[in-house]
Amino acid sequence: MRTHFINGEWTDASGPTFPVYNPLSDELFEECAAGTAADTEAAVAAAAAAFHAWASMAPGARQALFLKAADIVERRTEELVTLMAAEGGASRAFSTFQIRLSAAMLRQAAGWGYLPQGDVILSDTPGRTATVTRKPLGVVAGFTPWNGAFYLAWRTFLLPMAFGNTTVIKPSELAPISSGLVHAEILAEAGFPAGTFNVVTNAPEGAAAIAEVFFSSPAVRVINFTGSDKTARILGERAGRALKRMVLELGGFNPAIILDDADVEESIKAVTFGAFLHQGQVCMNTRKVYVARSLHDAFVAGLKARVESLKIGDPIDPTVIIGPLINDRAVAQIAARVKDALDRGATLVTGGYADGRLYRPTIVTNVPADAICTSGADETFGPLLVIEAFDDAEEALRKAQDTPYGLTASIMTGDRARGLAMADRFDSGIVHVNGPTMASEAALPVGGVKNSGWGRSGYYSIEDFTELRLTTVSTEPGRYPF
Ligand code: ADP
Repeated sequence: MRTHFINGEWTDASGPTFPVYNPLSDELFEECAAGTAADTEAAVAAAAAAFHAWASMAPGARQALFLKAADIVERRTEELVTLMAAEGGASRAFSTFQIRLSAAMLRQAAGWGYLPQGDVILSDTPGRTATVTRKPLGVVAGFTPWNGAFYLAWRTFLLPMAFGNTTVIKPSELAPISSGLVHAEILAEAGFPAGTFNVVTNAPEGAAAIAEVFFSSPAVRVINFTGSDKTARILGERAGRALKRMVLELGGFNPAIILDDADVEESIKAVTFGAFLHQGQVCMNTRKVYVARSLHDAFVAGLKARVESLKIGDPIDPTVIIGPLINDRAVAQIAARVKDALDRGATLVTGGYADGRLYRPTIVTNVPADAICTSGADETFGPLLVIEAFDDAEEALRKAQDTPYGLTASIMTGDRARGLAMADRFDSGIVHVNGPTMASEAALPVGGVKNSGWGRSGYYSIEDFTELRLTTVSTEPGRYPF
């Protein structure tokens, strides 16, 4: 049984527990505390009490804590790989990628306390000096997701903490250990002061009560949410009433455009990785490929062969690339969308069926525009890739952006200038020229436009997690008009 982490202590739940299942075997993985509003209030109070000391801690002291946490993450690699496989169905390729990024982000953030914290502004008033300083806000509440659980949880709370805020997180009900509780173990071992980082877990039906505490607590200044745009709308409406700032990392319908001068082999590699990493359950996975007609047949044949070579099975096996989908709902969604496309006359290139929750990487072509999986209105959160041939690159660019999302995009071309010119016209938070839609690094600011969200990760999140303080000091008597 796993309990909350509040004020530096593993705290007994005041309510009942909820089960977390292994997505492959469906066996009980862990019982976790089903948190209540009271638990959340205690966590927010602890974070608020810890804020001033944390915000004013010397940069070197804070740096030492982050560096120590990075070392612990690396030391625990094997254990974390096993955890992410058993709780979330992550392959070793995906979990080690997350561990590397997490350690890198901790080490980068460790130095931010030494960066310049503001500016001096010249004043027109004789004897007045004006400074503008970045200040942390207070408590940042975070919703951490189940998919890229380990890394995305760090991204949710570590960035605000690096700028001097304290945090309370509510991990996903589907993977609460890899999206929050294991981080509490790491930060506790590293010696982070009590209250700076708190975790309250919840049963699915308890989510709204916890969120309500975040919205109604004056100490909570920002809510950092990673999840679906559907839930973000509910939370955003509530945030509007509370006048709370939200940072939103939502979904995507991420296109790849393969221009007629692209290297076909490179494009096949980029799309295989971009579309099928973590079984297509990441917001940055490639959902649709627009490929120049002259390359289409060679591209599809090569992609089919590469995708069919990916080993499927229990992700605890280090050679497995494709593990299970997170639950039956995810399997049902992709199955329904594949059926919808095929019923409308699409061609199945590969996949299209599951063995339990092991859904085969699936590729469809000749998909009619009214099929759900190709319209771009809603992402299919699983291993389903749509391919469409194009004759006119302008038309491909227009279609690729005909979606309410705008998270990431990929352009494959032999002509860098052509790629950059097209990238410049993409209405998307991220565009990779000659790289997959998934090309994360800790230092690169991830975030979307349109329905993909607001805010950026990495150092640029300073805009989201701090506020500017204007301070003036005068050395001469004031000259007042009355
Ligand atoms: P996903 O489908 O990826 O799990 P969701 O957007 O459904 O994404 O959920 C993300 C987070 O939002 C979860 O932690 C869940 O508990 C929370 N959540 C879902 N619905 C609500 C709600 N009505 N109020 C508050 N939190 C919610």
